[in-house]
Amino acid sequence: MIILVINAGSSSVKFTLFDMKDDKKVLATGLIERIGIEGTSMKYSNWKGEKSQGSVDVKNPKEAVKVISERLVDTKYGVIGALSEIKAVGHRIVHGGEKVNRPVRVTEEVKGILKDCFSMSPLHNPHNLAGIEACEGVLKGVPNVGVFDTAFHSTMPPRTFLYGIPYELYTKDQIRRYGFHGTSHAYVSRAAARFDGRPIEDLRIVSAHLGNGASITAVKGGKSYDTSMGLTPLEGVIMGTRSGDIDPAVIFHIMKIKGLSYQEVDNLLNKQSGVLGLAGIGSSDLRDIEEAANKGNKQCAQALDIYAYRIRKYIGAYLVALGGLDILVFTAGAGENSNTLRAAILEGLDGLGFKLDRARNDVRSSDIRVISTDDSPYKIMVVPTNEELAIAEFTSEVLAS
Ligand code: ADP
Repeated sequence: MIILVINAGSSSVKFTLFDMKDDKKVLATGLIERIGIEGTSMKYSNWKGEKSQGSVDVKNPKEAVKVISERLVDTKYGVIGALSEIKAVGHRIVHGGEKVNRPVRVTEEVKGILKDCFSMSPLHNPHNLAGIEACEGVLKGVPNVGVFDTAFHSTMPPRTFLYGIPYELYTKDQIRRYGFHGTSHAYVSRAAARFDGRPIEDLRIVSAHLGNGASITAVKGGKSYDTSMGLTPLEGVIMGTRSGDIDPAVIFHIMKIKGLSYQEVDNLLNKQSGVLGLAGIGSSDLRDIEEAANKGNKQCAQALDIYAYRIRKYIGAYLVALGGLDILVFTAGAGENSNTLRAAILEGLDGLGFKLDRARNDVRSSDIRVISTDDSPYKIMVVPTNEELAIAEFTSEVLAS
């Protein structure tokens, strides 16, 4: 079964075409970026190793999906004979609010839910919807499935999702913690359990998704119990450019002493903070900050220390929240690739049950692997995430049901 996965953002549309019957093979993948601005271009590669890159005339998501579709059946770079071979399109959608608790077939009602969440996810949901409508227009009759970042966290109980603010703000305005990166947390926790050979229903897993955005999730018996992101992705650990947890009074104080508007503070906390703001070298990429720290930049070393410490605190909190732990999972860009970050997070915790095997931790690999010692009470694993594949798998599950 051929499934197309679409991730439509503010100025880009990413796509991957899978053949789910042929070992979930990636037939083709790529993206169109700078849509609606100057210099729109497309990158494309297929399973035969053929690649293309160049400018395209694309002004909106519908034109993007049209160009992508044409490329997939193109005589030179194409990988399928006809678009009718695509059995469904799986869409990455950020916010589904409280009404979506699993991947769902997109109907008018689902689109309405997506629109209702525009105010909570202004940077993503409108573009996700545009991606769906583009596919409806171009790939007529092909079912669309929505895979929501928030859905995996719908199992969180009130004790973890409610804020300590007037209850009416929840009942009337749906202000609560939702959590994000759910597709990744679901995928890596399932993969970790499978790799470990134990049923996920019996396991307590903490999964640390450490990319540009970062979140930690406590997974109990395969279900999200608590997660570090909240109403928006700003809450939780320190991230590439986001502050993570902060005393809310800092906001009012900054507004007062700097005369900033709320949009300016929003921008400051989402785009200029995190390790970018702490390290002060104009980069949010941990590789740059690690390199500068290794060359003696003390501010960068301090930024890395703070970043690791905040993650460590969440792992500790979730170990207690779960009443123990079976597997700690590291995933996403930094979680999968930075041995120094993983070592820093777990430094000195051998006695508490996190026995990191230095040699295993230092191996560079794109495979799922255990990095704890054989006698470590808690298993520590690196599990490469694959959100596109997860979306394709969820999409085929929805079709099958
Ligand atoms: P996104 O959240 O945008 O999907 P990724 O999961 O791809 O991002 O993570 C990208 C980030 O991962 C980079 O900005 C960088 O901070 C970090 N990263 C990637 N590779 C390494 C590495 N080898 N060492 C340290 N950090 C890395």
